[in-house]
Amino acid sequence: MRITNPATNELIKEIAEDTSQNVEVKYQRAKSALNSWSQVAFEKRIVLIQRFGDLLDQNKDNLAQTLTLEVGKPLQESYNEINGARGRIKFYIENAQKWLAPQELNNDGNTADILAFDPLGVVCNISAWNYPFLVGVNVFIPSLIAGNTVLYKPSEFATLTGMNIEKLLHEAGIPKDAFIAVIGAAKTGEALLNLPCDGYFFTGSYKTGKYIAEKVTTKLVPIGLELGGKDPLYVTDEIADLNKVAGAVAEGCFYNNGQSCCGVERVYVHEKVYDSFMEQFVAETLKLKVGDPLFKDNNQGAITRESHIAFLDSQVQDAVKKGAKLLAGGSRIGKNNFYGPTVLANVTHDMSIMKEETFGPLIGVMKVKDDNEAIKLMNDTEYGLTASVYCQDTDRAKKILSQVDTGTSYINCCDRVSPYLPWSGRKHSGVGSTLSYLGILAFAKPRGWHIRK
Ligand code: NAD
Repeated sequence: MRITNPATNELIKEIAEDTSQNVEVKYQRAKSALNSWSQVAFEKRIVLIQRFGDLLDQNKDNLAQTLTLEVGKPLQESYNEINGARGRIKFYIENAQKWLAPQELNNDGNTADILAFDPLGVVCNISAWNYPFLVGVNVFIPSLIAGNTVLYKPSEFATLTGMNIEKLLHEAGIPKDAFIAVIGAAKTGEALLNLPCDGYFFTGSYKTGKYIAEKVTTKLVPIGLELGGKDPLYVTDEIADLNKVAGAVAEGCFYNNGQSCCGVERVYVHEKVYDSFMEQFVAETLKLKVGDPLFKDNNQGAITRESHIAFLDSQVQDAVKKGAKLLAGGSRIGKNNFYGPTVLANVTHDMSIMKEETFGPLIGVMKVKDDNEAIKLMNDTEYGLTASVYCQDTDRAKKILSQVDTGTSYINCCDRVSPYLPWSGRKHSGVGSTLSYLGILAFAKPRGWHIRK
């Protein structure tokens, strides 16, 4: 497998992919380690995870550099991601015991009814490349804390980071067979689907997620799917500081080159503030500096997958052909994977840019006459990950968002994740939850104890 740098398209390294036979051997190792790992005291498991967090800190410079080299995100965003992962680890360390500890729910003096949790077993985690630390940590940390062993397949576009994660977990003291990285692309992932794992947790596209769900559903084990989105944002006419909102929206659209699962993918603006918003928003977009992601002044790096550039071009061409107006960007810059941050106005829902997940630095902005029109358009999607409303009147924003079918609702903010809240997609954005107490219990199975003395 060739690992290349998307900012230069040069080879970084060649790595052997795991064959299906290797994957089977890794599964057997993870299965054999299950009994001993699940019996390690909870407190000891927490200490090892804490040590892993400390190692992330101690190795931050190298980890951030590697992440930027292989996925092309600006170096500062790689640091931000590692810091974000630290925050999530802290959340699990502080909260897991509270939710996993046995609870006596009833005692009539004769029988104690106790709810307890057992590990699922061998957890299979197939992961994405856009935030490999964050989406990985959401699954493998609570899995390990709950006593599962883990087969972790990083994306083929974030393999070096996946291997760094494995190395540091082992260095922290997690047994070598309790956490095993499986290296490769779709074919290797497929080999994991053929094994009798005890839970499948996937982050990636709707297309692959649906395929995986169909393939593993007959195993009757828990399945978690965190998939794509076409997340809408609505700017109402009740805004105190339009400049500030335009800056925040531009960040929500273009952070990580628009390659964020909860990045803003389409914007609706109330007609009363549309012209002023657009002026500010385009100015904010034109301020973005595209270039070498290792150079600290650049805040837009390279598109991770070169093959995706043709799709971005096709969305721009489709929109322009159907009457959209290009206000910024619109094409690749140079011969490597850089793409100009793109703003399209006069867009409609007949255009791919407003319906299909873009996963890149393109945004369509549409004028709406009132909240009802905005609600109708926000719901006109197969996805349901997040939606955002900017409005000084919180009650009005809540009323709008409660009519939009998404797992996450943002008022006067966007593109953020809190470990205290469930991360949970609806419709084609997935099933199940990570983060919050739901994302701890997702990696355990309940056992009801009925105890009489
Ligand atoms: P992808 O579906 O192409 O790949 C995801 C993973 O699946 C990779 O590890 C890949 O090797 C593996 N895979 C591919 N085919 C497989 C098969 N047949 N069997 C088993 N495994 C297979 O997605 P991607 O390009 O890595 O990620 C981008 C997508 O992920 C976007 O749609 C984005 O919105 C989504 N995403 C969602 C969240 C979320 O929290 N909801 C977070 C990050 C990314």
